[in-house]
Amino acid sequence: MEKVVIIGSGCAGWTAALYTARANLQPLVLTGRQPGGLLTTTSIVENYPGFPDGVDGFELMSRMQKQAERFGAKTSFGTVEKADFSRQPFALTVDGEKIEAETVIIATGASHKHLGVPGESLLETKGVTYCATCDGALPVFRNQPLVVVGGGDSACEEALYLTRFGSAIHLVHRRAALRASQIMAARALSHPKIKPVWDSVVTEILDAKRDKVAGVKLKNLKTGGESILDCAGVFIAIGHTPNTEIFRDQVEMDANGFILPKRGAMTSVPGVFVAGDCADHIYRQAVTAAGAGCAAAMDAERFLAARNQ
Ligand code: NAP
Repeated sequence: MEKVVIIGSGCAGWTAALYTARANLQPLVLTGRQPGGLLTTTSIVENYPGFPDGVDGFELMSRMQKQAERFGAKTSFGTVEKADFSRQPFALTVDGEKIEAETVIIATGASHKHLGVPGESLLETKGVTYCATCDGALPVFRNQPLVVVGGGDSACEEALYLTRFGSAIHLVHRRAALRASQIMAARALSHPKIKPVWDSVVTEILDAKRDKVAGVKLKNLKTGGESILDCAGVFIAIGHTPNTEIFRDQVEMDANGFILPKRGAMTSVPGVFVAGDCADHIYRQAVTAAGAGCAAAMDAERFLAARNQ
C-alpha cells in the first residue's frame, strides 16, 4: 500500500512529490495523459521565479520531476480511471490495475476550453495560445494586431496584458456585453488599444497552409455577416474545465467542477488533499500551483503523522 499517491504531474503534483519525498513518504506520482501538465504546452515561461532568462515549459517540468525523484518520488505513467474514497485505504484504478493509498493528493489541473473551430489545433503554439501571460511577450506578437476571444474576466485580463505588446487588440465576444466584473470590463473597454468586436464568433483560424496565424474568419451572430480580420495571434480565453470528472460524487466541488478545499488543502474527505488548477479558478499560475502542492504535501504529512501516533 502507498502512503501517498499524487494524481497529476504539473507544478502542483511535482511540488507535492518533492515535499512528501523529502518527508520520507516515497510518494507515487501518477502522471496522467499529459505528463508535466499544461505548462509543457507553452514555450518560454518567463514568470517562474529563479529563471531570469525564462525557461522552456517542458524543461521546467522535467527539472521538477528530477528534483522530486532525487529524493525518492516514484513515477508511473498511469492514468486514473476510477477513484473510491468511500473506503480506507483509498482505492484507485489505474490503467486497469488497483492501487491502495493511505492518502491521495489530487493535482489533476485544468484544461483550457477550446473553440473547436478549423485551424485551432493545427496552429496551437504557432500563434494560437490560451495564455497571454505565458506567450504574450513572444517576438512574433510584438507590434502586431492580436485577437482575444471571450467576454469574461480572463479575456479582459488577457487583452489588457497584451496591450503592452500588440499594436491593436481585437476583443471578440459572442454577445454585446461583457460577462467580466465591472471594473475589468471598464478597464478593458476604455483602453485605446482594445477594440471590441461584439456579437461575433470566430469560425476559422487562418492560415493553416502557411503554418502560422494570419487572421480569423468572423461571423456576426446578429446580421449573419462574415468577415476576415488580420492578426498575428489568437488568444482564447473562454474559460477552463477542471480535470475532476472522475472525482464527481467523491469530493465536494463547485458547480463548475472545481474541488473545494477545506481547512488548508484537505478536501471533504479526510486524507484526500487537493492542489493546483483543479481547485483554483482565480490565479492559475505555475508558481501558485507549486505553492499549493507544497501545502497539500505538508497537510498530508501531518495527517499521516497524527494518525500513526
Ligand atoms: P468565464 O467567466 O466563464 O467567461 C468565459 C467567457 O467566454 C464568457 O464571456 C463566455 O461567453 C465566453 N465563451 C464561453 N464559451 C465560448 C465559446 N465556445 N465561444 C465563444 N465564447 C465563449 O471564464 P473566465 O473569464 O476564465 O473566468 C473564470 C472565473 O475566474 C470567473 O469567476 C472570473 O471572475 C475569475 N477570474 C477573475 C479574474 C480577476 O478578477 N482578475 C481574472 C480571471 C478570472 P458568455 O459571456 O456569452 O457566456
